[in-house]
Formats: sequence, C-alpha cells, structure tokens
Amino acid sequence: MLEIKEFNKIIVANWKLNGSSEFLEAYFEELDLKEINSDICGIVCPPITYFQNCYSKLHSLHLGGQDCSKFKEGAYTGEISASMLRESNCEFCIVGHSERRQVFNEKNEEIKLKAELLLEEKIIPIICIGETFEQKKANETKKILKEQIIKSLPRKTSNELVVIAYEPIWAIGSGITPSPQEINNIHEYLKKEIQDIQGYKILYGGSVNSNNANEIMSLENVDGVLVGGASLKPKQFSEILRA
Ligand code: PEP
Repeated sequence: MLEIKEFNKIIVANWKLNGSSEFLEAYFEELDLKEINSDICGIVCPPITYFQNCYSKLHSLHLGGQDCSKFKEGAYTGEISASMLRESNCEFCIVGHSERRQVFNEKNEEIKLKAELLLEEKIIPIICIGETFEQKKANETKKILKEQIIKSLPRKTSNELVVIAYEPIWAIGSGITPSPQEINNIHEYLKKEIQDIQGYKILYGGSVNSNNANEIMSLENVDGVLVGGASLKPKQFSEILRA
C-alpha cells in the first residue's frame, strides 16, 4: 500500500465514462509530467478497460478506479471486484461519487462495504461526500457531511488507509465553486470537528481547473483536488499537477 502521508498533495483525474483508444494515445502524448514535485501524488482513474494501456504510460502517476463492486465474487453480472482492480495494478479507488449516489442510488452502507473490500486488497479508497444545493440552502451541509462520513467509513480505517474527497454536488461539472474561504471552512470543520477522520487527507472536488487549482490547493486545510472535466484535457491536467 502506498504511504499517503509521504505526499504533500493528492491530485486525482476522474475520467468518468469518457475515453477511447485514440483519446488515450493523444492524451499521454500531450500530458507533460516534467518538473512535477515528487511530493505530489497524481492519480488517473480511467474506465477499467483502459487500465492496462494507461498503466504502461503513467510513469510517476498512479492508477485509480472509479468504483468497485460491494461483492467479493459470485453471480453478480457486470460487476468488477476489488481484487480484480488490484490485479490490474490499481492503487486507489473512488467510492461514493455523487454520480454513483444519485444516478445509481448508492447508499452510505454500500460505500462502506466497498471501502472495506478495497482495504482488504490494499487499495486506498477515496470516499466522496458532498451536499446538494438544496441541503446547502437549508444550512444542512455539516450535518449531511458528518452523516456520510460516519456511515461510509470502513470499520478498520485510519488516516493512512483512506482519503476523503469533499465534493459539493452543485459544484460538480457546473463551473461554479464555493469561495476559497468556504472551501477552507468546510475542510476545517471536517478536520477539526469530526473525530472519526482526524489527520485524514481531505481533497476538494467540483469545477477545479488550471485557473483555480493553485488557489484551492494553497488553502491550509486542502490536501489536494479531485478533477473531472479538466482532467480530460491533458494540458490542463499537466498544469494542475504543477499548480
Ligand atoms: C468529479 O467528477 O468528481 C468532478 C469534480 O467533476 P468536475 O471537475 O468536472 O466538476
């Protein structure tokens, strides 16, 4: 398992359901990994069918999954298990992304099961949490985040085994981000007031791009970023890795 405490910042590219063999060739040709600090942990999460091809081109970057099955093995058509991810050189895996929670109706309890199976395979789960715009307006953000964390953390967890990503749902893919002050305040709340995740690395996700990455990553309580749309643009992602 990677020693995540060794890294200053963690930067994740979530390709979602995007890519093709042609895209992949062009992407890695344009991705510029020169002069990236050795204390940066860059992770690329492509669709699983591109794992092998990506792995051969990643150099200093790491391979991540976007999800895994809540089952270990068996009659579950279409599923990919944590052990299959491990065999495919996967070191990290996003779980509980808001698109999984909203489109596929995933619940905290399932996310916990997935995180536990990933840990058994020595894969670091990146557990996503975040509030909707309605919940934010109703002043429920902190309550929602706390509940998501407590219910989705694996039983045998620690700040060296699990990463948290705070992704306000209204900021994902919208081009709108909370102000830097708001991001820092939420991260401070998570770090200081939720005992269960003391010392955990907490990433921010939601409309991060090469223009705002530096400011967001300089915030005291932000340990990195999870990037969707901008991570599909190799030039932008190279700049974010250097931000
Ligand atoms: C994401 O996919 O988690 C995400 C943050 O997307 P975007 O950067 O496009 O908002």
